Amino acid sequence: MRDATLLYSGKAKTIYRSEEPGLLIMEFRDDITAFDGGKKGTMKGKGTYNCCVSTYFFRMLESQGIPTHFMRVLDDHTLAVRALSMIPLEIIVRNIAAGSLVRNLPFREGQVLNPPVIVIDLKDDSRHDPMLNDDLILALDIVSAAELQTIKQTALRINEVLKKFLSQKGITLVDFKLEFGKSDEQIMVGDEISMDSMRLWDTHTGTSLDKDVYRFDKGDVMITYRTVAMQITGGECEEVK
Ligand code: 5GP
Repeated sequence: MRDATLLYSGKAKTIYRSEEPGLLIMEFRDDITAFDGGKKGTMKGKGTYNCCVSTYFFRMLESQGIPTHFMRVLDDHTLAVRALSMIPLEIIVRNIAAGSLVRNLPFREGQVLNPPVIVIDLKDDSRHDPMLNDDLILALDIVSAAELQTIKQTALRINEVLKKFLSQKGITLVDFKLEFGKSDEQIMVGDEISMDSMRLWDTHTGTSLDKDVYRFDKGDVMITYRTVAMQITGGECEEVK
């Protein structure tokens, strides 16, 4: 099924063409980056844990009627996904103020955001993913007004599903980033939902359980990724030694 053609290599994943029309191969690599690629490393097993958690969440969303690009697992760090025409937006749902929200705006770290706040950035590394608003998104003709509404409503539904699930595991969903794409005009969740794209705090201790551990040298990244992956999936992930 694997065709050698590399279509795209991002900071932590590689996309290959497959022999099956409409299907792509998404490989989660062990590379880890932060600050627009300013900090880089490799962590053995990281791709496997992110792949496992993404798979778990994609299945959960599908079971709730939320369409995603997930099709099947190929190996512990590789998925078969539906080919989408990707929308160059990063949809960030925030339940608690942290990260760039606190850096750039007068929010207090840990401030509860109720209702949740959606922030949409342009996915454009060369411009450092600038924040957009609805008018700019429509003026740039990235999506239609109806599509934008679908994207936001879907992001909020996903937030409710993930927040509730994670809270039962003792994990607070602070914020997370989604990417969407289109297949035959249907909007679907693409990319990944993993420790690289979520901000997770231990509900009792407030400890970071996500890429902030790497960004800010808060501890052992791999122990954190493995522990949280096992906690989320109930031990379903393959252990990487
Ligand atoms: P912040 O805007 O505070 O840096 O990030 C908010 C949330 O979105 C965090 O959970 C962060 O991991 C995620 N996020 C924002 N931009 C990106 C990005 O370019 N790539 C990934 N993987 N996640 C992002």
